[in-house]
Amino acid sequence: MTDKVVAARAPSGTHDVLWPESTRWEALLARFAGTVERAGFGLAHTPIFEDVQVFRRGIGEGSDVVGKEMYEFEDRGGRTLALRPEGTAPMVRAFVQRRPPTPWKAWYATPAFRYERPQAGRYRQHHQLGVEALGPSDPDLDVEVVALADGFFRGLGLTRFTLRLNSMGDDTCRPAYLELLTAYLAGRRDELCDEHRDRLEANPLRALDCKRDACRAATDGAPGFADHLCEPCTAHFARVRAGLEALGVPYVLDHRLVRGFDYYTRTTFEFASQALESAQNGIGGGGRYDRLVEMLGGPPTPGIGFGMGIERILLACDAEGTFPVDPPALDAFVVDTDGGTHARDLTAALRGAGLSADRAYDGRSMKAQFKAADRSGALLVLIVGPDEAASGTVSLRPLRGGGDQLTVPVGDVVEAVRSAARDARSAPPSP
Ligand SMILES: [Zn+2]
Ligand SMILES: [Zn+2]
Repeated sequence: MTDKVVAARAPSGTHDVLWPESTRWEALLARFAGTVERAGFGLAHTPIFEDVQVFRRGIGEGSDVVGKEMYEFEDRGGRTLALRPEGTAPMVRAFVQRRPPTPWKAWYATPAFRYERPQAGRYRQHHQLGVEALGPSDPDLDVEVVALADGFFRGLGLTRFTLRLNSMGDDTCRPAYLELLTAYLAGRRDELCDEHRDRLEANPLRALDCKRDACRAATDGAPGFADHLCEPCTAHFARVRAGLEALGVPYVLDHRLVRGFDYYTRTTFEFASQALESAQNGIGGGGRYDRLVEMLGGPPTPGIGFGMGIERILLACDAEGTFPVDPPALDAFVVDTDGGTHARDLTAALRGAGLSADRAYDGRSMKAQFKAADRSGALLVLIVGPDEAASGTVSLRPLRGGGDQLTVPVGDVVEAVRSAARDARSAPPSP
């Protein structure tokens, strides 16, 4: 007797995406690829882990993501590595290392890892889609990137979301603003939540985007970054706003929008879905990071990008009842009750001709094979029993869209399937 083996389980905070749910992921990825590739972005793959310094230097030691949530580990060679908690720093590391010509416009689809308390819409491994554009400091590029994300969401059928916009200035105007904000908050120190009272001097911006009531009340009248920008940052932000207005991208200015990563400069933006719980309603966001390339050891190179979470987007789509995706239907399912070699050869011939086909295995009964054909969602079933085998024919029966059963010579079956599948796909859905 052996002990019963406990069934293996995925780690806490992770999830599987199996068929047919995965067909919606595929469709989302294809939609995203189409959207951004029409805007000149090309796909980039970078490793799932990086030297931990890529994130410490880029995102900043003080952020929750690096300080509390990153999956860091030492490999067998004694290197300290981290699983990517977000998409931008690795892309910029790749740019620094390989120096592609600018403007460099790249998109990615990647898992991201954060050790957070698992809850609905928040996973320890989640999945992100994003773009990065390196080289130009042109505010029209900010407009393009924000409008791409907005258009992508609208193309999915989402309508109940808000775009919040802010500017976080640059090295010229940031010190004076931080001084102003710190002075304002110091006067209300006792009203702040415990965490931000203690960290006021270290990072006064954090109190602005704190979700706790105490901080929200204390920062209501706090000076906004957008009102204290230097002249070039003011001009940049004005052009971004004018561009969004010209393209009909609605937004609200929000002085609380100070994203938690050190690398952000100037334009920052976030999309929040009103269809989701407020604590988990961020469906995407990004901003300009004009110093990040230098922070990772490259030449001064401005950049801007966004990232969006696949799981959150699909939750928002569910909440709004939009972006339904039907699993693709097979053209044909082969039922072979004459020994299985016809199923083997017919499926190979159909697939070779560019059609989709599947079959049953293990010599199942005719009844079991028909059941499998139904479950497969195929448009047609091809039947080869002893009679068909003897006469060199195949029976073809539509499973959807009506129509009569035909018997065709084996040599004509590919064309017969092609034509019948076309008819079935164009038939109106049955009531
Ligand atoms: Zn707080
Ligand atoms: Zn400035």
